[in-house]
Amino acid sequence: MDNNIKTMIDNKYDLIIIGAGASGIMAAASALKDNKTVLVIDNQNAPLRKVRISGGGRCNFTNLDMSSDHYISENPHFIKSALTQFSVSDFLSEMDKNKIPYYEKKLGQIFCKNKSSDIINYLLDQSKDADFLFNTDITSLKKNNNIFEIDTSKGCFNSKYVIIATGGISYTNLGVSNFAAETGKNFMLNVIDFSPALVPLKLQKPYKELAGTSLFCKASIGKKFFYDDMLFTHKGLSGPAILKISSYWSKGISVDIDLLPNQNIKQIINQAKSSKSKQTIQSFMKNCFSIKVASFILDETNINNKNIQELSNHQIDLLYNFIHFFRVIPVADMGYSLAEISKGGIDTKELSSKTFEAKKVSGLYFIGEAIDVAGNLGGYNIWFAFASGFIAGQCLSDNKNY
Ligand SMILES: Cc1cc2nc3c(=O)[nH]c(=O)nc-3n(C[C@H](O)[C@H](O)[C@H](O)COP(=O)(O)OP(=O)(O)OC[C@H]3O[C@@H](n4cnc5c(N)ncnc54)[C@H](O)[C@@H]3O)c2cc1C
Repeated sequence: MDNNIKTMIDNKYDLIIIGAGASGIMAAASALKDNKTVLVIDNQNAPLRKVRISGGGRCNFTNLDMSSDHYISENPHFIKSALTQFSVSDFLSEMDKNKIPYYEKKLGQIFCKNKSSDIINYLLDQSKDADFLFNTDITSLKKNNNIFEIDTSKGCFNSKYVIIATGGISYTNLGVSNFAAETGKNFMLNVIDFSPALVPLKLQKPYKELAGTSLFCKASIGKKFFYDDMLFTHKGLSGPAILKISSYWSKGISVDIDLLPNQNIKQIINQAKSSKSKQTIQSFMKNCFSIKVASFILDETNINNKNIQELSNHQIDLLYNFIHFFRVIPVADMGYSLAEISKGGIDTKELSSKTFEAKKVSGLYFIGEAIDVAGNLGGYNIWFAFASGFIAGQCLSDNKNY
């Protein structure tokens, strides 16, 4: 556990935050700016554990292309207010001010230049005046006479406001819990069932000979598509393009993959033919694909050892269809243990989009992955956790204005 964290216990607080992840710690920092007394409770032994491992240890915390289009929710307009209240450029200026180096990797994705610990230390510094309790289980959460009473394995605490920031149920080895959904149901809020998202897909017959090989592709389900890298695995498919499209996948649905999205194989073969190229199709294909993928395509289409001039129109059509309309019907996703996030959670119709407070339970807020807002791969989930935490933390007031 980080040295910055003190443990000073009093049993009455303005605000108790349950969950010390990206959203909970940001909410603490935000509420402290308003001089609230804050207690953060977590059932694990350290804060921000997902942030630490996120982005391969470099935390992809936001994206320059920020809009509600990058989020899935039963209520797609809900996120818009949060995105206008919490600005990417303001946050990047804050990073500059605090000398936290970052860079754009690709597609607008902003990563820490060093390690996630840069942003972790920043958040812990911003929230250092809160009290923290780790390894602490919540045994009950009730509201009596406008005061929340929280019983825990380390005593009973009271507060005027409670923020639930316990995340989703993916990446199970980090000790996740269904606490947000259970609490929502106890307070009679509608909850949308969780399901794994940003998750590798399993195939009945995986292309084992290609396991470990990746290629740039366009992965589509219906009208939704992503251009990015795809990785063949021993069990099926992964890589950013597949993780992104997986959030739109459900059992029985096929995924269409264009293996050469920026070129038309028919056109380039015909160009090569008319330029009287003497290349074999094998060597020609290596201009477009790795040796492994090129051999795989030619094996699957039964086109072997032909000079490019000898290819018939039928064979060119075969190649065209195989390369541009590669279709898989996954049998399953790889489940919560490998899913980067979970879709679903507290129904956003139950919450104010301006404050994240439950409309039916004044003083109770839900933020981050615990609610039905699932971001795309590319920094959108940590960003939503930050935005919702920041907003809820600064909106704790009895003067409701929404
Ligand atoms: C491997 C991996 C890499 C990722 N990389 C990125 C990335 O680069 N960019 C990005 O945008 N997103 C990334 N994500 C997703 C992102 O990390 C999460 O969406 C985000 O951290 C959610 O923040 P949160 O505060 O809602 O929940 P969490 O960060 O999950 O925090 C929830 C906290 O609540 C605590 N808790 C849970 N149950 C209880 C309970 N019953 N009582 C008390 N405490 C409890 C947990 O211990 C935890 O500390 C990644 C996820 C994974 C798994």
